[in-house]
Amino acid sequence: MKELFLPPELSCEIGEIYQSMASDYDTVAQTIHLTCSGCPDNCCDSYFLHYTYSEWAYLWEGIRRLDDAQLDRIMQRSRDYVEQSRHLIVQGQRPQLMCPLNDDGLCSVYSHRLMICRTHGVPATLTRPDGQHLRFPGCFRCQEIVNDSYAVESEAPAMDRTVLYRRLAQLESRFLGNKRGLFPKVKLSIAEMIVSGPPKDIKTNGA
Ligand code: SF4
Ligand code: SF4
Repeated sequence: MKELFLPPELSCEIGEIYQSMASDYDTVAQTIHLTCSGCPDNCCDSYFLHYTYSEWAYLWEGIRRLDDAQLDRIMQRSRDYVEQSRHLIVQGQRPQLMCPLNDDGLCSVYSHRLMICRTHGVPATLTRPDGQHLRFPGCFRCQEIVNDSYAVESEAPAMDRTVLYRRLAQLESRFLGNKRGLFPKVKLSIAEMIVSGPPKDIKTNGA
């Protein structure tokens, strides 16, 4: 099956959405004085799943820039990750395994890392399409700062994810076009996105 490539304009646009995320994140992080520097934790071992073909394709744009030796190493680590995470999940545990793209503490695809890698940390809010308002407290270090600095958690500034998520959802619709409803839903860890290779197009009678 044909590989799904992001057209250049969508690739630029997802880069812009990510840039807005980074800038919104920095504004909140600076206001509450949260920095990852010196943190005893490394969030790259958090288990997250990802849900869009556009992020998957954009991740692969970054992976394609790696040299062969790096790619081999990352592939092997990804296969190990997938095996171990599935084993842990079957046992009822949430995996806590280092992301296969983390090389000695640095992200191998920094400019192509996924949305959650850019938003995890600071407090955040989200208004869902059904109107429900959600608030996320941020990472453990952020929660410590907020507890020490604010009388109530809701007084702390928060990054509003609503518009950014909406922009990403709209981009996903344009990427998949009128075949959107035919694609299977994506629900993959980064390691699974690597082991599976880049996203593939689907066959239709007309294509
Ligand atoms: S996001 Fe929070 S927990 Fe993760 S490395 Fe940064 S400060 Fe530490
Ligand atoms: S993609 Fe990069 S930033 Fe995201 S979890 Fe993996 S190593 Fe960390």
